[in-house]
Amino acid sequence: MKCPKCGTENPAGKIVCRNCGTRLRVQPGSQAAVRWTDAELMSWVRADVRRLLIVSAMVIAGGIAIGLALR
Ligand SMILES: [Zn+2]
Repeated sequence: MKCPKCGTENPAGKIVCRNCGTRLRVQPGSQAAVRWTDAELMSWVRADVRRLLIVSAMVIAGGIAIGLALR
């Protein structure tokens, strides 16, 4: 793997450049985070919000049903 800063060829699997110490490969987690776009993140959040709304709607509907049954 070639260092992006100084151009030194480093053995595969090396995390930092042997010449200048520049980080050659990012952590697996942060690489995935970089790949996510804002739109993808927003769609994730929106899906979570929708799920939360469905669950709370079911809880409210259940509460109303119990309230009507006890009346
Ligand atoms: Zn380097």
